[in-house]
Amino acid sequence: MTNGSKPIAGVIGWPISHSRSPLMHNIWLKTYGINGTYVPVETAPEDLAHSINLLKDKGFRGVNVTVPHKEAVFDLVTAKDEAARTIGAVNTLLFEPAGLLKGLNTDAAGFVASLKGSAGVAWTQGPAVVLGAGGAARAIVYGLLEAGVQEVFVVNRTVSRAEVLARDLSGKSDHKGQWVKPHPWTSLGTLMKNCALLVNATSLGLEGGAPLEIDLDPLSPGALVTDIVYAPLETPLLREAKSKGHVVVDGLGMLIHQARFAFEAWFDILPDASPDIRAVLEADLKKSI
Ligand code: NAP
Repeated sequence: MTNGSKPIAGVIGWPISHSRSPLMHNIWLKTYGINGTYVPVETAPEDLAHSINLLKDKGFRGVNVTVPHKEAVFDLVTAKDEAARTIGAVNTLLFEPAGLLKGLNTDAAGFVASLKGSAGVAWTQGPAVVLGAGGAARAIVYGLLEAGVQEVFVVNRTVSRAEVLARDLSGKSDHKGQWVKPHPWTSLGTLMKNCALLVNATSLGLEGGAPLEIDLDPLSPGALVTDIVYAPLETPLLREAKSKGHVVVDGLGMLIHQARFAFEAWFDILPDASPDIRAVLEADLKKSI
C-alpha cells in the first residue's frame, strides 16, 4: 500500500507478485486525489469465488483479473459487457451497487488504443495476421474487428484452437462482412505478403522462454509490427522488424491502456497515458530482467 489508506481496488491472480498493475493504478489514485490504494490479491483457483465475495464485502470498487482466472471468473459474474461476452474472458470486475458483479474485458480496447498512436500507418486498411489463439489473441482479434479490420488471419500451433477462435468471433452482429480465418504456421509466409499488421499474441519471445522464430522477408513493406510480449520490451521480433524499416509497437502500450479503461470503469476518470507511467514501468522492467 502506498499511502496507508484503505484498499479500494486491486488485481487478483495466482501468482501475483509479477503484476505491474499496482504501479500504474497507485500513481493514478494519487494523481486524481482518490483516497485508497490498489493492492495485489494472491488467490488460488479454488479460492476464487470466496476471495471475490470478500473483496466485495470489504468495499472494493473493483479488481483486475489476471492469469489464471480470466476465464473462470466469466462464470461468476452477474453481468458482462459485449467485449467480455464475445471474447469469453473477463479482465476487470466491477462491484456495482445492489450486489451486482459486472465482468468487463478492457484488453481488446487497450490493444487497439496502443496502435492508435502509430500515426501514418494504415493498419486497419488491410488484413491482419495474428500469431496465437490464446486468451490474449481472442481479445486482440475482437479489438481488430471493432476497429474495422476486414480480415484477420489467426495462425496458431494448435490449429483447432484457431478454428474455435474464428468460429466464436467471425461474423458477429456488429462484425458482419468481417472475417476471421484460422491457419497453420506453414501458411505464415504467404499471409504476411499482403498484410497491414502483424501481431505476436503468443507467449513466444518472453524473456527466458522459447523464442519466436519467423522469417520476416515476405512481410509486406508497409506492415505495422507489434508484439504484446513486453519482457523484454524490445523483443527479437520488434528488433528485426525495425531493422527492416517497419513501424513497431511494443507490448507496454496494451498494458497501460487496458489499465486506463479499468480505472475509468471504477472511478469515472480516464487517466492519461502519460510518459511518466511508461517510464515507471520501463524502469521496473529493467530491474527485473
Ligand atoms: P495463452 O492463453 O496461454 O496462449 C498462449 C499462446 O502462445 C497460444 O496460442 C499457444 O499456442 C502459443 N504458444 C505457446 N508456446 C508455444 C510454442 N512453443 N510454439 C508455438 N506457439 C506457442 O496465453 P495468453 O494469455 O494468450 O498470453 C500470451 C502472451 O501475451 C503472454 O506472454 C502474456 O504475458 C502476454 N500478454 C500481454 C498483455 C499486454 O498487456 N501486453 C496482455 C495479455 C497477455 P497453442 O494454442 O498451440 O498452445
